[in-house]
Amino acid sequence: MLLKLAYYGDPILRKKAEPVKEISETIRTLAQDMVDTMIAHNGIGLAGPQVHQSLRIFVMSIPIQQPDESWKHNDPLVFINPEILSFSEDLCVHSEGCLSIPKIYGDVLRPCRITIRCLNVDGEMVTRDLSELQARCALHENDHLNGVLFIDRMRGKERKDLDPLLKNVKNKFYKN
Ligand code: ZN
Repeated sequence: MLLKLAYYGDPILRKKAEPVKEISETIRTLAQDMVDTMIAHNGIGLAGPQVHQSLRIFVMSIPIQQPDESWKHNDPLVFINPEILSFSEDLCVHSEGCLSIPKIYGDVLRPCRITIRCLNVDGEMVTRDLSELQARCALHENDHLNGVLFIDRMRGKERKDLDPLLKNVKNKFYKN
């Protein structure tokens, strides 16, 4: 089932999400619906608050280019109650976007590699070492669980220039 997205301006995107208490059938269904919603919107990650669920859960699937140059989504990963155990000291800069802030992109500096621990949909504790786009995406989604958006991590003129665009997003998507 596809879920309704929360857009920039919606207070749920600014709330600190609550831990998932039990990996129930409801949570497994939510995770699957989040994966379906992410893929339907051509996203690579999606966090609970973005689908109006203030819970510490996010999903991620990075597409990989095939030999015939088409793109195929990796098996989606589900992160429940994630905890970042370590960050690399070196930082990478890359452009980011967000399904909750349509058509707005900006460069964000983040650690290049992380180690993250979480529960999976079977309730097992898993530790994942992530790098490059996977690390970036997991950090972006983990930020959502703390009410932080990628635009908060931008600075200076590039961020300031987004103000009128952000106002448009709020008017066009959130208030509808
Ligand atoms: Zn986002």
